[in-house]
Amino acid sequence: LRAKGQAYFDNEDKPYRFIGSVLEVTDKKQEELRKNDFITMVSHELKTPLSALSGYVQMLHLQAAKNMDTFAGSILGKVGQQVKKMTGIINGFLNISQIEAGKIPLNKRKFAFADLVNEIIEAYTIIAPDHSITNHIYEPIIIHADYDRLEQVLLNLLNNAVKYSPNGKKIDITSKVTGEMLRVSVKDEGLGIEPSDVKKLFDRFFRVDNHHTKAIPGFGIGLYLCSEIIRLHEGRIWVESEIGSGSTFIFELPIMDSTEYLPK
Ligand code: ADP
Repeated sequence: LRAKGQAYFDNEDKPYRFIGSVLEVTDKKQEELRKNDFITMVSHELKTPLSALSGYVQMLHLQAAKNMDTFAGSILGKVGQQVKKMTGIINGFLNISQIEAGKIPLNKRKFAFADLVNEIIEAYTIIAPDHSITNHIYEPIIIHADYDRLEQVLLNLLNNAVKYSPNGKKIDITSKVTGEMLRVSVKDEGLGIEPSDVKKLFDRFFRVDNHHTKAIPGFGIGLYLCSEIIRLHEGRIWVESEIGSGSTFIFELPIMDSTEYLPK
């Protein structure tokens, strides 16, 4: 309880009047607010040096290519990828504070959903060469959505599918049209999730805590971001999972106009 104001006491020193405001802040909420402020502050501080680093790496990469130095070129390529990864994490944190402030801007345009998936899978085969990611999206559906934000959602889901599948190597991306909605699923053959954890999975900072997941790094914000982005698109997201067999993350998005298909 946080009180701000003036208390008045009687002759026996007992308070009889209080003028001011009393704010109830639970410990948990307070801890969350503090964590959020801290993360936002650190993320802002890291953004500038990281983008400078990214620029320098690109310069060196170009130089290595000019000098035909393939060894330096390949190492610098890897450094560049790691810098990109870190930038992604930092942006994730900054997105959270935008969500908290209720101002995640959507920049919607019309595009073929299959194009987005193709582009992501192409990039992903380089990032996760051990996994086989199959694209089963055949419908030439056009949606009206924020391309970059949906890319973020799919990248998060794919990233998790890879991260939480230490043995399962198969990942399938499928889509289906149900009425006015496009249903997309990302299926893995990984660890699976306990029913008791499923309920909390899309909460901010939630991470499953067991001996399998302990060694896997993460901050518990990816799925929270996914659910907020999908919610802003007036869609929904959920998971079907079984321990030991794998998980399927499913989301639905409104189709712009079901008659507006791209020509084959
Ligand atoms: P992070 O992966 O950074 O912890 P997320 O918000 O992306 O954060 O995921 C929250 C939690 O949900 C993870 O810690 C993990 O335990 C669980 N999880 C997410 N995706 C999967 C998946 N494909 N298979 C099994 N568990 C998953």
